This record gives sequence, C-alpha cells and structure tokens, in this order.
Amino acid sequence: MTKKFLALLLITSSLFVGNQFARAADPVHPDQPIVPPAEAMSRLKEGNGRFTAGNPQHPHDSVDERKYMAANSYENAGTIPLGMTSEQAAKRRAELTKSQHPFAIILSCSDSRVPPEIVFDEGLGDLFIVRVAGNVLNDEGLGSIEYGVDVLGARLIVVLGHQSCGAVDAAMKTVAAKGKAPGHIQSLVTAIKPVVDSTPKGDLDTMIKANVKHVVDALRSSTPILKARVDSGEVQVIGGYYALETGAVAFLDEK
Ligand SMILES: [Zn+2]
Repeated sequence: MTKKFLALLLITSSLFVGNQFARAADPVHPDQPIVPPAEAMSRLKEGNGRFTAGNPQHPHDSVDERKYMAANSYENAGTIPLGMTSEQAAKRRAELTKSQHPFAIILSCSDSRVPPEIVFDEGLGDLFIVRVAGNVLNDEGLGSIEYGVDVLGARLIVVLGHQSCGAVDAAMKTVAAKGKAPGHIQSLVTAIKPVVDSTPKGDLDTMIKANVKHVVDALRSSTPILKARVDSGEVQVIGGYYALETGAVAFLDEK
C-alpha cells in the first residue's frame, strides 16, 4: 500500500464519518447545529425568567427599537426581535428568508394572555408554534409538530396549558350539563371530553393539567415520527402550566 493510497483512504473515511455524523445530527440541514432538548429547556426557562423578572428583551423594549419606531413606523418595529438594532434585525430577517431552525415547538392555547414568544421572551425564528383553544391536538396540529421535528430539526416539544383556561372550563361545564356547545366550539369540547370523563371531581386547575398530560401522552406515543424519537431520547415532550398572575411557566413531570 502506497503512502498516497493510505492518505486518500484516511481522507475518504474521515469524510464518510463526518457526513454520517452530520446526517445523524440533522438530515435536512447538515450545516446547522441541532439544539438538544435539555439546552432548549434551559433557553425557555431563561426566557421565562427574564419575562417574569420584568426584564424581557422582546420587541419594542430596546433603545434602538424606540429610536427606530420614532424614525420609521410602529408596524415595522414589530418585526424587530430581541432588542436588536435595526441593522441587526434586518440581517436576521434576511437570514430567515433562506431557512428557519426553531429550537423548540410549542403547542399552546389560543388565549390572548399566553403568547409563547412573549412569555418565553423569544424572537423571530426561535419557536415553532401551534395554537388552538385548549391546546388540543388535531391532525393538522400533529402534522405541524412532526414537520417541526422531522424537517426543521426542533428537539423539544412543550404542551403549554394555563390558569383559567376558558376552553377547558367550557368543556367541563358542557359535559356536566350533558349539553352541546354552539357551532364548531363543540369540536373543542369533544377533544377535551375524554379528559373530563377520566378526571372525575377535578377542579378547573386539575383538569387543565390533566388535559396537558393527555396531549403530552398522545404526542409521546404518536407513530410513526414522534414515538421512536421520544423513546430514544432524541426528542423530549414536556407539559407546562402558565400562571396568569405571575407569568411563570412550571414544567410538569420534569425528569
Ligand atoms: Zn386556554
């Protein structure tokens, strides 16, 4: 074996190993680092910490953004993320026209008091979000979440319920009255009814957390995309509960 051949073999095999690693890490965007679930959790906790401490960096707060708003328009300023200068924000938007790599997926209620980007103090391109009243899981929502994992490379899924959830409250009352909610609102009641039926005598708070757990379990056992990745530890699905009074998110059943 010549030295030249050996060198070629080394280069080829290292390229092969490198490629395999890149593929295993991210089949769609081998050039982009994957954010592991634990790191994504830390980022969400830090962001919620900034929010609850009254020290968020979200849009409209920074000096640069205020200057930008004064010189331009409030509407445009709404697209500036995380206390960036207007130049930095323009660069970020330009980057995001090419691709997106959100580090977490949030399935949350539509409630106007619980907007994920604000309560986790995140900016453009950070979170892949599905919002539906009662944070229930339907096929379109599941497909969106699978897309976030399989195509965009997110590795943490948070199901976010919240204090005083009107959808869960309505479901409890409608089921108790053996009634029917008007129009398509009934579809939310139907989705939450199994939780109400299996949580007898639960108060609203208990029911909200049981509903989160129900959806977490459904995601963890969902085939063919999520279950295998959850079982291997590659993807984590966790429930969260947002307290309206404090702004704090408590993660449920955190391992
Ligand atoms: Zn709600």
